Amino acid sequence: MYLGIDIGGTTTKMGLADSSGTFLSENSFSTSSYSNVNQFLSALEGEIIRMVSLVGNQLQGIGVGAPSANFHTGVIESAANLGWSGQLNIKGHLEEFMKCPVEVTNDANLPAIGEMIYGGAQVMRDFVTISLGTGLGSGIVSNGKLVGGHHGMAGELGHINVKPNGRKCGCGRRGCLETYVSATGLKRTLFKLLADYNGGHSELEEYAFEDVNAQKITEAALRGDKIAIKAFNYTGRILGNKLADLILVTDPEAIFLVGGMAKAGALLFNPTKESLVESMLNSYESTVEILPSKLPLEKVSLLGACGLIARSERQLKKSKHITLLERKSF
Ligand SMILES: [Zn+2]
Repeated sequence: MYLGIDIGGTTTKMGLADSSGTFLSENSFSTSSYSNVNQFLSALEGEIIRMVSLVGNQLQGIGVGAPSANFHTGVIESAANLGWSGQLNIKGHLEEFMKCPVEVTNDANLPAIGEMIYGGAQVMRDFVTISLGTGLGSGIVSNGKLVGGHHGMAGELGHINVKPNGRKCGCGRRGCLETYVSATGLKRTLFKLLADYNGGHSELEEYAFEDVNAQKITEAALRGDKIAIKAFNYTGRILGNKLADLILVTDPEAIFLVGGMAKAGALLFNPTKESLVESMLNSYESTVEILPSKLPLEKVSLLGACGLIARSERQLKKSKHITLLERKSF
């Protein structure tokens, strides 16, 4: 059994899964109600003990994904959207507390690991996952390995610039991809279009900004709302254009679009694919697939956390086996 932990700014999700990725038990608790790191840690440890008591000594290890977590060091490095400041050596703490192996990674990498171990990328060696939620995260897998980068920070696709002096981003700069392509970006586009068309064109014009979300825009678009459809087209076209750049750099077999916004299906996928084909070099045309996740959207990340530790334990067993074989042969 593997315990996966997905620490988000609002909620921490936990799941105990077997080696096939089937959850035996799942749980979640509020991250944002803890402003002190030690209080958060003791709440987390309490939940771990409660869940692990279900499986006794069958726990093989723990996989953790968190914002600004460094894969190399296992440290959460002052994440802007967590309620506490400073660094947290979550790997060290949990290894000491549970006396079992713990692997940690940036939460943006979790969907890539989930697809690689349990989902649509099990037979792929080169692919990318794009997670479309409040922001835009990405995980890049090259030659079967997650690209971590020298500082463990690779794959910050959400903050590449798409428009100089464009929309203001949470990172402090302007024109980042996620200010256009994310649930928040879609909403900003919708309100810009509503202002441009000056009333009478959309069922969404009666709503205040804070009362609209990606799901409402999707539902309106599915009912034929022209402004909502336009918002998706605008979003998909920017995404497709940037995916063309990403393909030139990473040469993947496929790109998976995951996260809540991917539920919009053809509304998002069609303009993305059209814009991608228009922006791509001829030699790559139609060779890279843009795919939805094969896993349940709300469980991709948690499965990624379980997969992170499952893969690490498998690799360890494999290397021990090889060492044993080598010893035998001498
Ligand atoms: Zn940014």
